[in-house]
Amino acid sequence: MAEILVLVDHVDGEVKKVTFELLTLARAYGDAAAVWVGPGYEGAKDKLAEYGASKVYVAADEELTSYVVAPKVELLAQLVADGSPAAVFVAATGEGKEIAGRLAVRIESGVLTDVVGLAEGFVGEHSIFGGAIVTHAKVSKGTPIIAVRPNSVAPEASPSTPEEEQVSVTLSDAAKGARVVEKVVQEKGERPELTEAAIVVSGGRGVGGADNFKLIEELADSLGAAVGASRAATDAGWYPHTFQVGQTGKTVSPQLYIAVGISGAIQHRAGMQTSKTIVAINKDSEAPIFELVDFGVVGDLFQVAPQLTEEINKRR
Ligand SMILES: Cc1cc2nc3c(=O)[nH]c(=O)nc-3n(C[C@H](O)[C@H](O)[C@H](O)COP(=O)(O)OP(=O)(O)OC[C@H]3O[C@@H](n4cnc5c(N)ncnc54)[C@H](O)[C@@H]3O)c2cc1C
Repeated sequence: MAEILVLVDHVDGEVKKVTFELLTLARAYGDAAAVWVGPGYEGAKDKLAEYGASKVYVAADEELTSYVVAPKVELLAQLVADGSPAAVFVAATGEGKEIAGRLAVRIESGVLTDVVGLAEGFVGEHSIFGGAIVTHAKVSKGTPIIAVRPNSVAPEASPSTPEEEQVSVTLSDAAKGARVVEKVVQEKGERPELTEAAIVVSGGRGVGGADNFKLIEELADSLGAAVGASRAATDAGWYPHTFQVGQTGKTVSPQLYIAVGISGAIQHRAGMQTSKTIVAINKDSEAPIFELVDFGVVGDLFQVAPQLTEEINKRR
C-alpha cells in the first residue's frame, strides 16, 4: 500500500491526541508513516506503534525546532520528493494549517484544510456556514495535503512494530528567518485541553459574570470536560480569551458540547458545529442554538446547571 505521511503533533515529546486520529485515518487509506520532528522521540515511540504507524521518519535534530514552521515544511517537502507518498496528513491546528499551506506551495500541490471526514480518493468533507452545508473537495494536482480537524476521527489502537528511519534536512537560509527565542510552557490545569477534549461545556453572556463561571466549571468537572466560552463572555472579561470558541476563537469538535447561556450566533457555531452531540441550556426557547441541538433544555441556567452537576456527581 502507498505511504501516507502523518506529521506528529507533539510538545516536547508529549504526543497530542490528534496524531492518533491522523494515524487511524491514514491506516484506512494506506500505510501510516509518522514523521517525527525534534527531540523526545524515544519517550513517544511506543505510542506511535500502538496506533499503527508502519514506519517512523525520525528527524531528531534539535535545530529543526529552533525555528518556527519552515524547517518542518522543508523536511516534509524532502520526504515527498524522495518517497512520493499518496498524501500528507497534518492536524488542522494553527501550526498544522500553516505548514500545509507552505508545503502546498513548495511541492506545487493542493491543500484541503479543516477536513472533518475523508472518502476514497482523498475526497475531503468540510462542514461550512454553521454546519448548514457540507462540501466535498479533492486536490486536483500533486500530492494531496490534508489538514484534519482534531476530534473528527475516533482514534483506534492497532499495535504495530514500525520501522524507523533517521532523516535530516539541510535547512535553507530562508527557513532560518524566524528563530524561536523563548518557549513558555502553558500552565496546565486539571481539565483537558479545549481542542482535544471529548466533552466541552461552554458558558455565554447568560452566565452573567466572572464569578458565575464557577457553575460552568463545576458542570465541566463533573463530566471531566474542558471549559469554553462565547466571545460575549470573553470580551466581558469573565473568562480568558484562550477559551473562546468560534470563528475568532478555537474550533472544537468533541463528542459532546454543552452550550450554557449561549444564543448560538453564526460566529459561535463556526467553532463548534461539528460536535457529535450538542446540548443547550437557554431560557429563551427561540434562541437560534436550539436549531442546532440534539437535546435542548429551556430553562434558567442558574437552576438547571447546578441540578445537572449534582445528578452527574451522584452517578460517578
Ligand atoms: C467578526 C466576528 C467574529 C466573532 N467571533 C466570535 C467567536 O469566535 N465566538 C463567539 O462566541 N462569538 C463571536 N462573535 C460574536 C457573536 O456574533 C455573538 O455576539 C456572540 O457569540 C454572542 O455570545 P452569547 O451567545 O454568549 O451572547 P448572547 O447572544 O447575548 O446570548 C446570551 C444567551 O443567554 C441566554 N440567557 C440569558 N440568561 C440566561 C439564563 N439565566 N439562563 C439560561 N439562558 C440565559 C439568552 O437567552 C441568550 O440566548 C463574533 C462576531 C463577529 C462580528
